[in-house]
Formats: sequence, structure tokens, C-alpha cells
Amino acid sequence: MRDAEKEPSSEPLEKYRPWTRNQLGELVNKHPEFSEVLEDVQMASRVFPFRLSTHVIDNLIKWDNLREDPFFHLLIPTLDMLEEGHREALQEVCLSGDEARITSVVNTIRADLNPHPADQMTLNTPDEGDNLNGVQHKYPEIVLLFPSAGQTCHSYCTYCFRWAQFIGDSDLKFAQKEAGYFFSYLQEHEEVTDVLVTGGDPMVMRTKMLQKYLEPFCDAEFLPHINTIRFGSKALTFWPKRFTEGEDSDNLLALFRRLIAGGRHVAFMAHIGHPRELEPPLFKKAVERIQSTGAVIRSQAPLIAGFNDSADLWLQKWKREVNLGIIPYYMFIARDTGAQNYFKVSLSDSFKIYQEAVSKITGLARTVRGPSMSCSPGKVAIDGISEIDGVKAFVLRFIQCRNPELVGRPFFAKFDKHAAWFDELEPIDGQVLPWDSNGRLKLPSPLLRDESLPLIHHQTL
Ligand code: SF4
Repeated sequence: MRDAEKEPSSEPLEKYRPWTRNQLGELVNKHPEFSEVLEDVQMASRVFPFRLSTHVIDNLIKWDNLREDPFFHLLIPTLDMLEEGHREALQEVCLSGDEARITSVVNTIRADLNPHPADQMTLNTPDEGDNLNGVQHKYPEIVLLFPSAGQTCHSYCTYCFRWAQFIGDSDLKFAQKEAGYFFSYLQEHEEVTDVLVTGGDPMVMRTKMLQKYLEPFCDAEFLPHINTIRFGSKALTFWPKRFTEGEDSDNLLALFRRLIAGGRHVAFMAHIGHPRELEPPLFKKAVERIQSTGAVIRSQAPLIAGFNDSADLWLQKWKREVNLGIIPYYMFIARDTGAQNYFKVSLSDSFKIYQEAVSKITGLARTVRGPSMSCSPGKVAIDGISEIDGVKAFVLRFIQCRNPELVGRPFFAKFDKHAAWFDELEPIDGQVLPWDSNGRLKLPSPLLRDESLPLIHHQTL
């Protein structure tokens, strides 16, 4: 047994308290430098959700150089994140002070920002009336569970692809209230091996609430086809005290241990995007406490302009993660939602950053997959930039797909240095892409090339 497991959390409990747009004035009092951007943030945070934890305020944001600080971009919405037309409309209506008009303009802008990317509302939800509205089943082996009490985060990322969850529109929310319907669904789907508990961030929930959905899995006889319980969370970065302080953190770790004793693998999918997130001593302590239960921490994050768009940052992050026993798992491409235009990094630049970073790291960190797009047809990785019969091309591959037959099969698209998302790609002459013009996977499986044509040889650049 490692020390961290034996050691109960004994520090005085600091209650989590969110800083929202109602506390912007208080934030100026705490950090007077914030006054420079206050008006801007007041307007932008009408569109984008805003929430900070004390941990990010005190440990991650560098307040003396705000505009240049990557964590300012990560955590604080500004008007730059809106396109010109939206920005002007918002500024104009905010000046009018007419709250009804402001709400109407804000709602119009939000609707234009693709609140549910990758067809989440229509393609992934089991068709069971309202009983399973917090469950998504996109790939055969994994089911996503959105418990109703876990639909917020300790802080909000400005690029969040789940931002629709936080804006108070119940039509746009996933939230599973009843655990029983979820268990029945799993019982009928023996192909499911993994449950991903996600949100928001399920770590905002008290352990008692998590137990409603998870305690039965501590019994090895209950739904034995479920091998793995995954948690998608950014709490290690946003509120590490969730794992280090108070009785409830001990209860959470005890739950992890019981799940493992019940024969489940507990995979903690930590959202970590920047090496600075790994620096606070509390982060390290939280990692040790989670690992002491037998749970495995894997890291994943999107590549975001102005936040982590440099090979050196990813290299430092992966090195440190390996050192802490965290397994680098995914580098994602920013999704086509919210302020994607502000945050996007082209597919071509993303591949270069990935390739440069991964080429300099030990094999133990080459577990990381990417850069990958989580889009409607599946998870599409950019494996390379190549030349096909004299035409420059992206080499692509499904890491995950609605049609499992396509997983692992390479296919190609014309190189486009500006393309930043899968639906901007064009096929190579004589070939097809596996999705249609609406970005939906072609079913039944398309041929990835015209079989009547000779095999094409490609040369990696
Ligand atoms: S932690 Fe994840 S779900 Fe929460 S705001 Fe950030 S990206 Fe969104």
C-alpha cells in the first residue's frame, strides 16, 4: 500500500465556491489588472459561460500579463472570440441596456455557434423516450453517461464543446436522472464494455450522488460485461482539492477501490492541456491519491490556438505526465462549436506540432493518439501528409467509427493548408471520402477507393 492511500485527507476543508459573472467586480478588487478587460469580459460572458475556481485564480492565471497569458485565453471569454458581425451586434445591444433585446441577441449568437457539434442531439441518443436523455451510445463498446448532477465544471474552458450544457437552456442539456433505466439499457447491450461517466465534470458531484449510478458495479456479479468505468474530468486542474480534502474525497477514493475490487478497471481520463496545470503541489498530491486506489490516469486535451499550439509545450506536458505515471492518451483538434474560429489550428499545423513533439519523446509517451477529430462519423486521426500520384494529400484513419469495419483503414483527402475540420476536406480524384456532403458517415460502408483503378502508391513527405 502506498503512503498516499494510507494517508486520509486531513487538511482543513476549503469549500468550493464558483466565481461567476456576478463576481467580476470582486475579481477586480482581488486583481486590479483585471479592470483592463472588465468591460470586454462583461459582454462576452453573456454569450459564453463563465466560471472560475479559486484554484485557477490563485495558481494558474498570471494576472500581471493577462492578454498574453494562455490561462486567460483558456478561462476568460473576451469579445475577440466572436466573429465581427456577432461582436458588433452584441456591443451595440449591450450599450442599449435593454435586457430583453440583449437576451434575444445573445440567444441568436449562441444558436449560430453550433451548440451541439457532431450531431450529438440526433445521432447518439438511444431512442427510449425521456428515460435515457443522459445517455449517449455512439460506438458499440462504450456508453457515455451524463448524470444530472454532474452537468457543470469547477471552472469553464472558453473553447468548451459542451458549453451548451452550461447556458441554462434545458432543451440543449443531456442529463440522466434515473439510474435504473441506465442499468436496464446496459443489460440489453452486452456489446458494451466501457461506461464513460462525463458531463460537465462528474467530479463536481458528491460521492453519494455518484454512488447512485456506480455502487452496483462494485459487485462483480452485476453486469459483468462492463469491464471499465471511465471518468472524464478536469478537476485535477480546476479543483484538485476534490481528491485531497475532506471526508468526501476519502469516500470518492474508497468508491474507486471498491469498483476495482469488483473487477472493474477504473480509468480516470484527465483533461490536461498545458504543462503549467501539472505544477501546483496539490495537483501532484491529487494524482498520487487517485493512483493509490489502483485507478489509472490518462491525459487528453485539444490543441488550442493561443493556449497550447506549440510542440514544445506538448513535449513538456507529456514528459512530466510520464514522470507522474499519467499515460498520454489523446491530442484532439478543436471541435466545430463555440469560438472555434478563434481557437482553431489547421489540420496541417496540428499534424506538424504533434509530429515534432512525439518525435522527441520517449516511447512511453508515444501512447498518445492524434491529432484526432471527434466528429460525426467517428474519431479521425491525421496520420500524415503525403503525396498520391503527384498530389499532396492528408493520410487519415478512423481511430473510432460508427461503422467498426472502417476502424484502422487508411484513406486520403486532398491537402488543404487551411482546412481545420473534416467537413472542409475534399477527396483525391478517383477516390471517395467515407462521409457525405452533410458530414454523415456513408452507410453501408463506402469503398475508400475505386476498385477498378490500379493501387495508388504514396510517399510520406
Ligand atoms: S472541463 Fe471539459 S466540459 Fe468542462 S468546461 Fe472545460 S472542456 Fe467543457
